[in-house]
Amino acid sequence: MLRPTRSLLSDALTILKGVGPALAKKLEKLGLQRVEDLLFLLPLRYEDRTQLVKIGALAAGTRCLISGEVLLAETAYRGRRNLLVRISDGSGQLTLRFFHFSRQQQAQFQSGVRVTCFGEVRRGSAGFEMIHPEYRILRESQDATMSDSLTPIYPATEGVQQGRLRNLTDQALRAMQDEPPVELLPQAITEKLGMPSLAAAIQYLHRPPPDADIEQMQAGKHPCQQRLAFEELLAHYLSLRSLRALAETDDAFALVDGSEQVSGFIDDLPFTLTGAQQRVVDEILGDLAQPHPMMRLIQGDVGSGKTVVAAIACLKAISCGVQAAIMAPTEILAEQHWRNFSDWFRPLGIEPAWLSGSQKAAARRASLASIADGSAQLVVGTHALFQEGVDFHRLALVVIDEQHRFGVHQRMALRDKGIGEEGHPHQLVMTATPIPRTLAMAAYADLDTSVIDELPPGRQPVSTIAVPDSRRSEIVERVRSACASGQQAYWVCPLIEESEVLDYQAAEASYQVLTEALPELRVGLVHGRMRPAEKERGMQAFKEGLIQVLVATTVIEVGVDVPNASLMIIENAERMGLSQLHQLRGRVGRGAAQSHCVLLYKPPLGRIAKERLAVLRDTNDGFVVAQRDLELRGPGELLGTRQTGLPDYRVADLVRDSELMPQVQITAETIRTSSSELAATIVRRWLGDAGRYGKV
Ligand code: ADP
Ligand code: MG
Repeated sequence: MLRPTRSLLSDALTILKGVGPALAKKLEKLGLQRVEDLLFLLPLRYEDRTQLVKIGALAAGTRCLISGEVLLAETAYRGRRNLLVRISDGSGQLTLRFFHFSRQQQAQFQSGVRVTCFGEVRRGSAGFEMIHPEYRILRESQDATMSDSLTPIYPATEGVQQGRLRNLTDQALRAMQDEPPVELLPQAITEKLGMPSLAAAIQYLHRPPPDADIEQMQAGKHPCQQRLAFEELLAHYLSLRSLRALAETDDAFALVDGSEQVSGFIDDLPFTLTGAQQRVVDEILGDLAQPHPMMRLIQGDVGSGKTVVAAIACLKAISCGVQAAIMAPTEILAEQHWRNFSDWFRPLGIEPAWLSGSQKAAARRASLASIADGSAQLVVGTHALFQEGVDFHRLALVVIDEQHRFGVHQRMALRDKGIGEEGHPHQLVMTATPIPRTLAMAAYADLDTSVIDELPPGRQPVSTIAVPDSRRSEIVERVRSACASGQQAYWVCPLIEESEVLDYQAAEASYQVLTEALPELRVGLVHGRMRPAEKERGMQAFKEGLIQVLVATTVIEVGVDVPNASLMIIENAERMGLSQLHQLRGRVGRGAAQSHCVLLYKPPLGRIAKERLAVLRDTNDGFVVAQRDLELRGPGELLGTRQTGLPDYRVADLVRDSELMPQVQITAETIRTSSSELAATIVRRWLGDAGRYGKV
C-alpha cells in the first residue's frame, strides 16, 4: 500500500500543458512543486455560476450570474470614458459599466442582443450595476448558465490568473482519476467517522456540484473538508509525537543530587509555595531525575508565580554540578529574571551570567568565556542564547519563558546546544497564555503539561472598565488621586504594528501631556527604542517608587513585577489582542491594594471590538480570555505563530476544527503503534521535509 508509485501526480508541474519554467516559478510561491500539490491547493471560496438570478431579486454586495437583453449601450464621460450597457430581464434593469473597452466590444452590445454576466452587484447612480463583469454574448437558444459545477476561487498569486489555476487543477484532477492518491487513513477510521475517500473529497472540493451547500463549505464544515483537515492535523500531531518519542530514547543527565540545597532554598523563600506551585515543582523534579530529557510545558496565568518554579529547577541542575540557562523573549524580562535570580542565588554563591544581543563586545566576550568554561553555572538571556558562537560547558537544563513568543525551531536550537556525550538538556517551557485543551493538544503534542491553576494568596481580581478616550481628563484625575494615596500607575501606549518609531512617538506624546497635567508627580518613560541600560534605569526607578507614573509602550507586556502599582491605563485598547491586554493587566493586582485597569478606546467601536473589551471587563481568568481570544481572532495570534514560524496549516484551522483533535489523537496513537512507516508517510505528505519525522 505504501509502495512508492511513479505517476503523473509525483511529476514536476512542468509536465502539465501550459506550464513552462516561468509559470512553475510563480506556482512555487503558492507552495506548488509537484502535480499532486495542486490537488491539495483548495479553493478559498466558491462562486455559483450555475444558477441564474433574476435582476429584480439582486442584492448589493453579492456576486451573481444574471442574463438579459441589451436595451441600450452608450459611452459617457465621468472623469474618463465609460461604456454603459443597460440590460433587462423583465424583472428589472441593470447597468454594466466598463472603463476599459475596445471598439469591437462596444459594437457587440447591439440592442436586443442577449447577454449573460457574472460579477459583483453594486448600487450605482441609476440602480444596480456590475463593473467589468465576466460576460458572454448568447447566440439564439444558447443556455445562459456558465458552468455545471460551482466555480472554485483559488488563493491568488501574482501573475497566475484564476482561469489558469482552474485549468491546471483540471489537469491534475484528470491525472487523479487515472491514478488516485494513496489512501493513507486506515479504512476502519474513515468508516467509523463517516468520511469520504481522499480522492472523492479532493474531487468534490475542487469541482463541487451545483447543489453543494456553499455555506457549509464556506464555513469549512463540509465532510470533504473535514476529511482533509483530519489528515493534516494527524500529520502535524504525528510529527510532534515523533519528536517526543525521540526525546524519550535520548539520553540526558539525570539530576538526582542536591535535594537538600533545593529544599533549603524553598524554606528560605519569603513566601510559601502555593499548592499548585508545589505540585508542579514535584512533577519537574521527578522528570529531571530521569536519564531522558524532560520536555515539559508549564501553563500558568499571569502572576501565578512561574519564575520561582523555574528557579527551583535551575538550582536543582546547578546543585548537580551542571549548567542551566533561562531564555526570555524581551530584554526587559530577561533583565528582570537576571535580577531576581541574582537576588535569590547570590547568598548561595551562585552568580548568573548575562547574555543579550545588545551587550557590548567586551562584556559579551567575558560572558561567552564563562559559559564555555563552566564557571557560569546559570545563564540568563534573550534569544542571543541559542545563536552561533555560544558554547556551553555542560548545559543540562533549558528554561524558556513566555513560550508563545518562541517556536518549535528555537526550542530545538537550544536543545542542540546541550551536553554532547551525556545527551540533550532537559527542557522546561513556560507560558502565561493558557490555551484551550484541544488547541494545546495540537500545538504542544511534544510536551508534557503542568498547570499552575492557583494564584498566590491575597491577590484581588483587577477591576476593569472601558472608557472612551474623550474622557481622558477624568482618567488623568484618577491617576492623580491614586498616586496621592501612595500608589503607582502604568500608562501604556498603543502598539503600532510594525513601527517602533510610531510606538515611541505615541508614548513620547502621552509622556509630555501627563508631565504637564501632573506637575506634582514624577512621570517616567520607557519604550522599545531606548538603550537597555536606559530602560533598566526607568524600570528600576519605578520599582523603587522614585517614579509614580510610568508611561510605557508594550515593552512592559511580559513579566514586569512591581507590586505597589495598582492602576493601569491602556490607550487604544481596541487595537490590541485580548491575551495581550490580559498580560498587560497582569502587571497590576500584584500587591494588597485593590487594583484597577482602564481600557481607553477610540469610538466608535465595532461589534467585535465591543465584545472583546467586554470579555476583559467580565473576567480575570486567563483561560476564559484565551478561549474568547481564540474564537475572536484565530490561533495564529494566540500562539504567536506569525513570529515564530510554527508550521502553517494548508486546510485545517485549529479553531474551526478543534473538535477533531480528540479523534486525531486516538488515531495517531493507533497508527504509531501499528506502523511507523505509515506515520512517516502521512507526515511527509503534509509537511514535506519540515516534518522531521523520525530524523531530528
Ligand atoms: P508569572 O507567573 O506571571 O511569571 P511571577 O513569577 O512574576 O509570575 O510572580 C509574580 C509575583 O508573585 C512575584 O512578585 C513573586 O515573587 C510572587 N510570588 C510567587 N509565588 C508566590 C507565593 N507562593 N506566594 C506569594 N507570592 C508569590
Ligand atoms: Mg513571568
